[in-house]
Amino acid sequence: RGMSRMMIHVEELTKYYGLKPAIQDISLDIERGKIVGLLGPNGAGKTTILRILTCYMQPTAGRVTVDGMDCRTQALEVRKRLGFLPENVPLYADLSVQAFLGFAGTIKGVKGASLQRETDRVVKACGLQEHRKRLIKHLSKGLKQRVGLAQALLNDPPLLILDEPTTGLDPAQIIEVRNLIRELGGERTVLLSTHILPEVSQLCERVIILHKGRVRKEDTPANLAQDIQQGLRTRLSVDGPEKDVRRALAAMEGVSNVQPAGGRPGEWVVQSEGDPALRPRMARMIVESGWGLREMRTIELSLEEVFVHLVTEESGEEGERVS
Ligand code: ATP
Repeated sequence: RGMSRMMIHVEELTKYYGLKPAIQDISLDIERGKIVGLLGPNGAGKTTILRILTCYMQPTAGRVTVDGMDCRTQALEVRKRLGFLPENVPLYADLSVQAFLGFAGTIKGVKGASLQRETDRVVKACGLQEHRKRLIKHLSKGLKQRVGLAQALLNDPPLLILDEPTTGLDPAQIIEVRNLIRELGGERTVLLSTHILPEVSQLCERVIILHKGRVRKEDTPANLAQDIQQGLRTRLSVDGPEKDVRRALAAMEGVSNVQPAGGRPGEWVVQSEGDPALRPRMARMIVESGWGLREMRTIELSLEEVFVHLVTEESGEEGERVS
């Protein structure tokens, strides 16, 4: 078996719960050593994909391999290669951190001297040295999440799968856990699900955007943002009769909406389809109409807006109006 560049290979994956498809025709490849984000609103199908990848559930159709091993026929081999942090980590409240990790290690088949070595290693990796004797029920949520990560790291798997790793944490804990995930990345492949945009832009090298059980887009966070910023919204300041300026801008090919910018009169926000030639055409039109072009600049979208745009754009829900 040649070592594939891909840690995860997903082919036309579909899962129905009863008659309802949770995911449909998902195909993905995730390269070794990358931190990849699975991003989507609630119900997009993130957890379903992660459950199939971790062999907790069989798909209705399609094929998944992890490190070249088939999730259907080689589930044990797959499980050896991955550490999983589920959305709600089953932590045993009455155990100490140390005892819980020993227990989790035993379940994973780590024995004897290597069990001690492994628990020591993950305790250190997750900064739990001072807490190893404490009972899990006495830990803060952020520390519990670190215990969950430590558990996933036992046996040093080349793949970490994290379901919403920062949900329910306070802002300081979120930063801590994100830093930890970044450190744990390194050589490992990390696939994490989230519905939080800043999380993917801060952590991930690639983002897979899911919506209604399908992959909508896949790219680097920077490209995703840039992609749809290309001429998406432009702020213009034009010296000319307002009605005529607005009508002329709205009539241009590629322009989908023109709104007053809400500042001084003569300032407009032009929404467009992303044609890079549109701006020079707008400038020419304004000048050729005998008006003055005082200013023209891009309005940067936040990642939140980028997401809304990507998701609505392709499901035909965008209510564009030219008024
Ligand atoms: P969340 O962020 O809320 O966990 P998600 O993106 O992880 O969302 P999934 O949990 O994979 O989404 O759910 C995808 C769809 O499948 C949703 O519409 C959900 O209601 C449905 N679903 C999930 N699990 C089941 C189940 N066990 N039985 C029936 N429907 C389910």
